[in-house]
Amino acid sequence: MATIIDGKALAQEVLAATGLRVDRLRQEGIETALAVVLVGDDPASEVYVRRKVAACETAGIRSAGHRLPASTSEHDLLSLIDRLNADPEIHGILIQLPLPAHIDPSEVLDRIHPLKDVDGFHPVNVGRLSTGTGGLVPCTPLGIMKLLDTVIDDYRGLDIVVIGKSNIVGKPIAMLLLEREATVTVTHIETRDLADLARKADVVVAAAGSPHLVRGYWIKPGAVVIDVGITRITGDGGKTKLVGDCATHELEHARAVTPVPGGVGPMTIACLLENTVLAAEKSARQLSNTDLTRKRKEHQHADQ
Ligand code: NAD
Repeated sequence: MATIIDGKALAQEVLAATGLRVDRLRQEGIETALAVVLVGDDPASEVYVRRKVAACETAGIRSAGHRLPASTSEHDLLSLIDRLNADPEIHGILIQLPLPAHIDPSEVLDRIHPLKDVDGFHPVNVGRLSTGTGGLVPCTPLGIMKLLDTVIDDYRGLDIVVIGKSNIVGKPIAMLLLEREATVTVTHIETRDLADLARKADVVVAAAGSPHLVRGYWIKPGAVVIDVGITRITGDGGKTKLVGDCATHELEHARAVTPVPGGVGPMTIACLLENTVLAAEKSARQLSNTDLTRKRKEHQHADQ
């Protein structure tokens, strides 16, 4: 019987640990704050933003909401980002995607200061991830690693198949797994013999957005399966429900699987807040460095 990896419970642990770090910063006089920018009134985005704001409250992070009409120009949005970049009381900037069609998302994401880029989408952070040199890591892959860490100690030499090559899930999770010395195969819609590749894997990370794509016979006994996909489908009786990329009921022979909902989803939000407190800690350290420099200069003057 496969172990169900409980993303909800782990997310609570991450939120609690984040809350402690937020408290420590507060004792130093720093109130951790996340700017949440929503352009337009896409109902799914509204739900995501509400959840993120509620999670901020749980962790003691101040959320500064900026709701802009769908008609907002790219220029005005970029000006807002410039103001948030310059605001020392804002540590993280989240631009809820998707943006209205007339706004170029890459222009917008590139404008966020890399140290405030808590989604980890800025090219500087992408580059840092791919070179293994730190930076802010995208939240969903970060959450996936924490889920995997509950069942895997040593990734060295493991065969891992990632299904999907998006910039927000597939590519960054592949980078994180390579850093742990796994052998990673990134697959996509044009990949041939995907089932064969998956069947050889010790771990399968499914992020295709294709309901029940991964069948039981794709998974070797004892493998770990992370189901990232979330698709809303209409079930029996016209009720809608969320389903993942894996036919979970066929995966009893796996070692461990994540459920949908309640697996990767809650971890993504928890990791957003972890990134925010990390950004605040980094900014605090910079302040301390400035303080040290100032103090050193004062001492130098006193000695002269
Ligand atoms: P995307 O559409 O940007 O990319 C999907 C990728 O999957 C592409 O590379 C595509 O080639 C590949 N793909 C699609 N169908 C395939 C198939 N039949 N076989 C093999 N490869 C296939 O999607 P995304 O933004 O990476 O999201 C993927 C899924 O993960 C979606 O369901 C999304 O809702 C979900 N998601 C969940 C979270 C979360 O927090 N739980 C976060 C991000 C994305």
